[in-house]
Amino acid sequence: MSNFPLNKDQLVELNKTYSTPFYLYDEKAIRENMAYFKKAFSVFPVFREYFAVKALPNPYILKVLESVGCGGDCSSLPELMLCEKSGITGKRIMFTSNNTPAEEYVYAQKLGAIINLDDITHIDYLKKSLGKLPDTICFRYNPGPLKEGNAIIGKPEEAKYGLTREQVIEAYKICKAEGVEHFGLHTMVASNELNPDYFVETARLLFELAVEIKEKCGVRIEFVDLGGGVGIPYKPGQKKVDLEYVATESKKIYDEVIVPAGLDPLEIYYECGRPITGPYGWLVTKAIHEKHIYREYIGVDATMADLMRPGMYGAYHEVTVVGKENAPKDHVYDVTGSLCENCDKFAVQRELPEIETGDYVIIHDAGAHGRAMGFNYNGKLRAGEILLRSDGTFKQIRRRETVEDYFATLDFDGLKDFE
Ligand SMILES: *Cc1c(COP(=O)(O)O)cnc(C)c1O
Repeated sequence: MSNFPLNKDQLVELNKTYSTPFYLYDEKAIRENMAYFKKAFSVFPVFREYFAVKALPNPYILKVLESVGCGGDCSSLPELMLCEKSGITGKRIMFTSNNTPAEEYVYAQKLGAIINLDDITHIDYLKKSLGKLPDTICFRYNPGPLKEGNAIIGKPEEAKYGLTREQVIEAYKICKAEGVEHFGLHTMVASNELNPDYFVETARLLFELAVEIKEKCGVRIEFVDLGGGVGIPYKPGQKKVDLEYVATESKKIYDEVIVPAGLDPLEIYYECGRPITGPYGWLVTKAIHEKHIYREYIGVDATMADLMRPGMYGAYHEVTVVGKENAPKDHVYDVTGSLCENCDKFAVQRELPEIETGDYVIIHDAGAHGRAMGFNYNGKLRAGEILLRSDGTFKQIRRRETVEDYFATLDFDGLKDFE
């Protein structure tokens, strides 16, 4: 079932003010979804979601999420600044970066963010960058061959992130000796994973490691950050991750492992992006060409530069045609953009209703890692973003790019005396 919030008349009306292609996000659905997420994890004494800013780096979205209690998970200077401008500061920022330049640590510290270190050598690097270590430090654990990966993120032992188990133990000992007072523990070993047991197992892994750290280092872990990686059902027939199940099962392990070790209350964090906004964002396009060669093609007015997941990973995104939701899917199309790259296809050999020029073609589940991953190859100007407010009104939260944006880093004046 399509969850696209507008009918054809509403879309035609909206299109008079904002021409396609554009991203549309549904504020009400995002708020309701966040309420569900928080309620599921309310079985824990303290729970917080740090929204992964990279998934949808728009300050209006961040402000909506901030208003329902979310923090922000950042890994670059501009992402830190986006949080700051959206009213997310202090310990509500998790700085989970890797291969981090010194000035980004300095800025994170200035905002009072929790700094999550990706390597044991970064303790020294951080100390040199800041002059002294912060009061609170978190480490990213890489479980290596202990944990299977998945197709997108790969195997943990092949991943560049985090510390080994031996290094984790050593790192907390060093920080304790250096006078660091508060500690967290983090891992992120999946991406777009739909098996709920995967997240329960990750919780067990971190809970048991927190106990080991207490025993071996005399360090009390005050929070565990279970990372992101919660998938969404992009394909029809796939099942949404049951977060109530993940929370209740993780709580059982908490009661079994954390409570007897004297680590209760332990704060539980996630830093999800995809399941928070992914299903509530759409790339709204219009069919501008139909082409009949060895295959049937529908050309839309957006390109892979607006949404690169299908071209980059062969990712599936549901495609619907507004007003033809119930029409028979008796045509097979490749739905393409206009890049000079043959992977610029939103759908390949997809069964769809007959599409005519001028039809609105909706690319679903584009609310996370959508516009954010866009690029300007072939001089393509990226689509803007519109928020459907909870009260039914529309707000443009990012305009479409212009040629001036594209040329902003060039100095054409300099051409005059360049021979
Ligand atoms: C990408 C990322 C996330 C968010 O992942 P989603 O799949 O969007 O939930 C969280 N934490 C880190 C460190 C990441 O790199």
